[in-house]
Amino acid sequence: MAIHVECLCAKYVAVIKFAEAILTGGNLNFPSDPDNIVVMREDIDQTLLNESEDLSDLCMACGNKYPYTDDKVDTWIECDSCSGWYHWDCMSRPSIEEVFICPGCQGPL
Ligand SMILES: [Zn+2]
Ligand SMILES: [Zn+2]
Repeated sequence: MAIHVECLCAKYVAVIKFAEAILTGGNLNFPSDPDNIVVMREDIDQTLLNESEDLSDLCMACGNKYPYTDDKVDTWIECDSCSGWYHWDCMSRPSIEEVFICPGCQGPL
């Protein structure tokens, strides 16, 4: 019995697209013929590429996009000097009323 790699691949792509559609509330009815599978696969690759290359929305302190632990809140603070974004938690929750200068801009302590 031969394994049809193309079939497995198409199924995999369909599953990803289905999951994406659910997550984004998008259209669940997408074509599943081979040509469209190729297009959708390129679409997925492009999405992954875009997300991995976009470092602008990463916290400059911890390098993560989101805080991962439950006791942290997804609050961000922008450095008034370099416009870099930091997790509020990563900066030990400074006052958001005052000017915030990040450790990098404050220089060595
Ligand atoms: Zn952080
Ligand atoms: Zn800064």
